[in-house]
Amino acid sequence: MRLKDKVAVVTGGNSGIGLGIAEAFNKEGARGAITGRNQKTIDIAVQQLGGNFIGLGGDVTNLNDLETIFKTTFEKFGRIDTVVVNAGGVVEGSQMGSITETTESDYDQYMALNLKSVYFTVQKALPYLNEGSSIILIGSIAGHRAASGMAVYGAAKAAVISLAKGLSLDLLERKIRVNVLSPGTIDTPVFDKFAPGAAAQIKQLWVNHIPAGRIGQPSDIGNAAVFLASDESSFILGTEIIADGGMTNIS
Ligand code: NDP
Repeated sequence: MRLKDKVAVVTGGNSGIGLGIAEAFNKEGARGAITGRNQKTIDIAVQQLGGNFIGLGGDVTNLNDLETIFKTTFEKFGRIDTVVVNAGGVVEGSQMGSITETTESDYDQYMALNLKSVYFTVQKALPYLNEGSSIILIGSIAGHRAASGMAVYGAAKAAVISLAKGLSLDLLERKIRVNVLSPGTIDTPVFDKFAPGAAAQIKQLWVNHIPAGRIGQPSDIGNAAVFLASDESSFILGTEIIADGGMTNIS
């Protein structure tokens, strides 16, 4: 029970990596809130978590929604110790492609979800956080490695990795730690959103590039997040943990 008595907010906790993190937190005794926009998947996830987590709807690109998420969680639980800034990834209905295909609107929407929302999720959480709190930003190895057609997403994630360093200095005085946890290829519904109908093939192709010989599972990221949320990592701040089965190490 490494997170006993801790209260966490996991944005995008109704799917994929966010749900894996909420499940790992739940096993370690945490309570709190998961968020998302899709009420149906929020309800399913809350049920799966067995009563320790509430589900809150909200769009992380909307600052009023972010304020409401943290205010409501604080009113319900009386404290917040950990924030996992996970919501992000694919913007449905928008194109993630090469520079010749990307419109100004595609660019703005990708940056709004994958960078701007990260900064303002942290800002809106701050009034409610205790001394000793841990903020975990979900980055990506796309912030280190180029992938064709993913330049804007990769740039946003590289900036998130940088944000963790800068914000950890800004928040030193309040003894709030900020770190970034960067997944490699993880088996989540994102593949169906990115490549409908071809998700299984794409995942299989990725396996060939992963030294560990398998695609990651949301629980792999959940386990690393438990460490960063726990007091065991109290000397770790402004840094990155990469959970990618060794993929970043090979060319
Ligand atoms: P999913 O598509 O499974 O989950 C994305 C989550 O973000 C959902 O819970 C979704 O909820 C939420 N979300 C998306 N847009 C918004 C929005 N505007 N407002 C509120 N919530 C939103 O993807 P993953 O689990 O794969 O991705 C989670 C994070 O991990 C992302 O930051 C992604 O970039 C990162 N990542 C993923 C990797 C992978 O291989 N899967 C690799 C590296 C990083 P809802 O649909 O209800 O809005």
